[in-house]
Amino acid sequence: MQRVCTDCGRTYPIDGPWRCSCGSPLALEALPTLPATPPEFGRDAGLWACPAFVPVDRQVTLGEGLTPLIDGDSSVQYKLEHLFPTGSFKDRGAAVVVSHAIQRGADRVLEDSSGNAGLAIATYAARAGLDAEIFVPADAKPSKVRAIEGTGATVRQIEGSRADVTGACIAAVDRGEGYYASHAWEPLFLAGTATFALEVAAQRDWKVPDAVVTPLGHGTLFLGAYQGFERLRAAGWIDDVPRLYGIQATGVAPIAAARGNDREVARNDVADGIQIAEPVRRREIIDAIEATGGDAIAVTAGETERAHERLRAEGLVVEPTSATAVAGLERLRERCVVDDGEEIVVPLTGRNGTESS
Ligand SMILES: [Zn+2]
Repeated sequence: MQRVCTDCGRTYPIDGPWRCSCGSPLALEALPTLPATPPEFGRDAGLWACPAFVPVDRQVTLGEGLTPLIDGDSSVQYKLEHLFPTGSFKDRGAAVVVSHAIQRGADRVLEDSSGNAGLAIATYAARAGLDAEIFVPADAKPSKVRAIEGTGATVRQIEGSRADVTGACIAAVDRGEGYYASHAWEPLFLAGTATFALEVAAQRDWKVPDAVVTPLGHGTLFLGAYQGFERLRAAGWIDDVPRLYGIQATGVAPIAAARGNDREVARNDVADGIQIAEPVRRREIIDAIEATGGDAIAVTAGETERAHERLRAEGLVVEPTSATAVAGLERLRERCVVDDGEEIVVPLTGRNGTESS
């Protein structure tokens, strides 16, 4: 197994850099071959139920993975990703990336995120006994800063734009201050989120749904799901890869715009977890959409709030960003892109930040 550049094809060892010398993001290649038949899935093993699937040995755990898949209204199954230890699917990536950090001998991890990824990395670092430094915008919500600080991590509040926050974190990584446990750049983070696909397939007795609809910012779940389903198909564990639909927030919807689905309406600040203007893996996301016959669309603040209320009425208390996928599914059905009789899986991605938008 090694790292390979998604642009120029240069390769690096698995404990190599977080990005290519050409500046492009890295992927993984030559992942372990899956056995001919899937193993039994047990709740106790959780995320680590299929050792060949996750290319890192478990070094740290909080009991993550194998989240419930339950029936919702109208031909939808919800995967309850908000039940992860730190409250979001980001634990899939954090458990794998922090395990890798331990294996490569890091004693300090760095990440830039004021949201679920920052909390997940900080929490798993605490569990593993590693120092963590999390870079956040100066105007990050105090509740989020307190949550990250509560793990014992050092929080660095950076003035300026979101890009300035990332720049400050990368400068610290370049000074050798720690391993960059980035949800956007580190390809092993996607190897962790790929377990979403493994669990969906296993919980449906290896019959995949017609489509999966996810919120879409940097694409950490969207791309992980795509890579996971592709691996399962290559191994013969499933016959097809579902159509993948990514749902963005209006006003900050670069992938929807690239697909010709931009809606020139007000910025959706309710879905604050997916407001990513320049996703690192933009081209990979578009390739995954095209390969699966999916799409990306954007939903408004009003649509997100109404979907959030409908979920609450079903007893599902999640963060507003999670509701974008439900709002997006409704629009896809209105446009007859998704038929009423089709089987759909929607991950409810997180429960943090439910108190406000
Ligand atoms: Zn390159």
